[in-house]
Amino acid sequence: MSWQGIEGHDAVVARLAAAATAGRIGGAYLFVGPAGIGKERFALALAKALQCRSCAAGLVPCGVCPSCVQADAGSHPDIDVVRKPEDKATIPLESLIGDDEHRMRDGLCWRLLLKPIVGPRRVAILLDADHLAVEGANCLLKTLEEPPPGAVVILVGSAVERQLPTIRSRCQIVRFAPLPDATVAALLRRLRDEGRVATVADEVLAEIASRSGGSVARGCELADPALADTRRRIVDLLGRRPLQGVELARETLAAAEAAGKDAAPRRQRLKLLFEGAVDFYRSALRSSVTAEGGPTPDLARAVAAWNGATDEAAACLQHTLDAIAAVDHNAHLPTLVDAWSAALESPYSARLA
Ligand SMILES: [Zn+2]
Repeated sequence: MSWQGIEGHDAVVARLAAAATAGRIGGAYLFVGPAGIGKERFALALAKALQCRSCAAGLVPCGVCPSCVQADAGSHPDIDVVRKPEDKATIPLESLIGDDEHRMRDGLCWRLLLKPIVGPRRVAILLDADHLAVEGANCLLKTLEEPPPGAVVILVGSAVERQLPTIRSRCQIVRFAPLPDATVAALLRRLRDEGRVATVADEVLAEIASRSGGSVARGCELADPALADTRRRIVDLLGRRPLQGVELARETLAAAEAAGKDAAPRRQRLKLLFEGAVDFYRSALRSSVTAEGGPTPDLARAVAAWNGATDEAAACLQHTLDAIAAVDHNAHLPTLVDAWSAALESPYSARLA
């Protein structure tokens, strides 16, 4: 089954459709789940359905009413989407309650109070809810406590634990699971046929899907031939003894920076490179116990060349996992990459800040 072209979240659709049928759509939802599995698309599709003038049972919008047309065009005046700007660490207060000169006369919270123009209600979607600062959250809180009649606020974040307790206690929590490998593979095949993913064979896409963690976005990145090359080079560097930390750091940082000038794609790329290192050290740990080489020939070769002790592999694995966590906490990337490669050079003494 596919709801508005969205795959893999049938249980969530069923839950919300049942609520809609019972006339019990909530005023505030918190969507949580890993990145790249379609939460944002789902929130937009839900907003469209909630705004449709003749929505069918099962939250299926008609697709032709003025409301649907504007929702599809991304220009619906009653659907408000706010996200964190690339260059900011948190969602700016002005996106919620207006800038200094327009306090409480602009922003998501204020617009939610206005009479709807086209649809039957106001819907506000707050993406990047993980990056809601305390001040912004306090402003949002009042809206969540007393939402205007019919209004719906959808917060989209990665995990419940990353939301402030005051916020999450006022939202209905909707969990999105990672997509099954077969669904990721099918979606990757569709993207490939549309020319949006590198042309590779179905078997390769299936293998990529199995490493995607259920995320189509991650699958797309793993399918990028340039990234695959870089991951191979980094794995090769990890396998050398002694480790050339400076070269490793230079290569890693350059590859992350090649992902674009914005911080978000660079962080995402760096995480994928670090995950390549995680694969390497996990394979090394496994091979120290079972004498298996690794899931791919490149990994097997690099692990055999490295030939380190179990506790060294474990220490390096931990340093790399710490580095991935630091990416999520907005660490300064060049400093982080330097600290990571230095930690791998002396895995027993180093600690990532
Ligand atoms: Zn419609």
